[in-house]
Amino acid sequence: MLKWWSILTGGSVRAVRETVKRGRLYGWRAAWTCVCAHGINFHIRVRNSMPGQSRVKCPCCGWQGYAYKAFDGGQHIFRQIECPQCGAHDRHRVLHLFLTLRLPSFTQKDRCLLLHFAPEKHTQGLLDSHPSISTVATDLQSGALVSFSGPRFASDIREMGVGDNTFDAVFCIHVLEHVQEDRQALAEIRRVLKPGGVAVIMVPGHLGPETHEWGYPDPMFCYHVRDYSTHDFARRLEGFLVETVTPDDLVGVAGRATIQVPDGAVIFCCTKGS
Ligand SMILES: [Zn+2]
Repeated sequence: MLKWWSILTGGSVRAVRETVKRGRLYGWRAAWTCVCAHGINFHIRVRNSMPGQSRVKCPCCGWQGYAYKAFDGGQHIFRQIECPQCGAHDRHRVLHLFLTLRLPSFTQKDRCLLLHFAPEKHTQGLLDSHPSISTVATDLQSGALVSFSGPRFASDIREMGVGDNTFDAVFCIHVLEHVQEDRQALAEIRRVLKPGGVAVIMVPGHLGPETHEWGYPDPMFCYHVRDYSTHDFARRLEGFLVETVTPDDLVGVAGRATIQVPDGAVIFCCTKGS
């Protein structure tokens, strides 16, 4: 009884608060998106609480259920994003499978110094489990790194203030869509990589032909400055030897149903030539 009461009422006060706040700041359309997102997640919460629901399975924590939670992106609702148990998003599920199934070359080195931009717990925990990997964390704001216990420093991805050829690997996951000068940032990543080093890069992307540049961080689109075309992003990686890893490469078409990630969730493995 207590469980069902919690399901029925859980989050409802927060939903009202968020809707009112969104409406005041961004208008009725944004408020309506908020209402719809909470409605969808209410339905998912009910279905996930029913026995025998195992359409999806989170590779990060093993949770199984009817569906992942939807994400309210401001103007759009993104379905099948967040694991109700561990909070991992679709990008974390892809990265988890990449790091466990593909065993990328840098995980097999005797010693690997890895620079991680804006580290997130779902990915960082897996990287920490590799005994050869030593992670250095960085972010634009030092306050964003307080939960990271290892070596860390604040830096601008466009100009990091570290020497050339310093790192064996770089992780840059869902960062560049926030950076106005992304080509400058990519050149900087290449500069700090050792020859033969690998940058693992992901951006939220669609499979259309064009990247849409907004020129400002749009609060109704998660403060992104652009909406990448995956094909166009690949063209921005000049100077690297690029291997793309798609969700189908990791789990096949049939496996996609259980992890529920979009076609654009591509991992770009970018090697710096010698
Ligand atoms: Zn999970």
